[in-house]
Amino acid sequence: MSYRKSRKTARRGGRRGKGALNGNRAFIREVLGALRRARGPVGPWRREDPVACLIGTILAQATTDRLADRAYRALRRRFPSWPRVLAAPRAQVERAIRFCGLARQKARAIQSSLHHLQATRGRLSLDDLRRPGLDVDRALADLCRAHGVGIKTAAITLMFGCGADLCAVDTHLARLLRRLRVVPEAASPARAFRLLRPLVSRGRGLELHLQLIRLGREVCKAQRPRCGECPLLRICPHGRRNSAKELRNPFRSA
Ligand code: SF4
Repeated sequence: MSYRKSRKTARRGGRRGKGALNGNRAFIREVLGALRRARGPVGPWRREDPVACLIGTILAQATTDRLADRAYRALRRRFPSWPRVLAAPRAQVERAIRFCGLARQKARAIQSSLHHLQATRGRLSLDDLRRPGLDVDRALADLCRAHGVGIKTAAITLMFGCGADLCAVDTHLARLLRRLRVVPEAASPARAFRLLRPLVSRGRGLELHLQLIRLGREVCKAQRPRCGECPLLRICPHGRRNSAKELRNPFRSA
């Protein structure tokens, strides 16, 4: 789709949208600036070993950070090296990570990822992706070839393990981006990631990701976004619509 056509569709709000999209670089800069001013800087963050990051992100799918950390520690206690995780019977890996939910699928994805590294690099390492000038699209495609590794897991691994300048989008970030009308109402996290990527200024991907994650956890919650306390209320279509409804009917939520 050409840029001109996508702008036209955006102005119409797409087939399912409500109003124009805010899919432009200036809006994203404004979001980041407002969050920085209101809530302070994020980080500092530590660069992690990319294989540990990949496995940890698989474990974190559809569960809480606390349970994912617990499952990661249990896996490392039971199998202290990655070759031992790869060589283990699947059922034993599954048992080691059982508290974090979807253990069967996650055990398969973990072993499949390690198998992919062994097959493509001859060793269980992703150090080849930790270099300046990395071809990020190629690296994303490479990681996504392992069964159970999607674009979000691949992007998080590249961001936190290899220092890639990306803003990974999970379900929470996708919700926020839909409310801000950066992406259409029906956009999945994978589509939101693709649409957001060209809108983020160089060197700002990780910062934007961390700022939005923090906002999603503390303010823009799934069920009851606290729009009255949100530094983005002035520019957020969803928040403004909510506030207008509350003004019309102040006893609605009482
Ligand atoms: S104004 Fe409300 S809906 Fe918009 S980002 Fe803030 S909390 Fe979320």
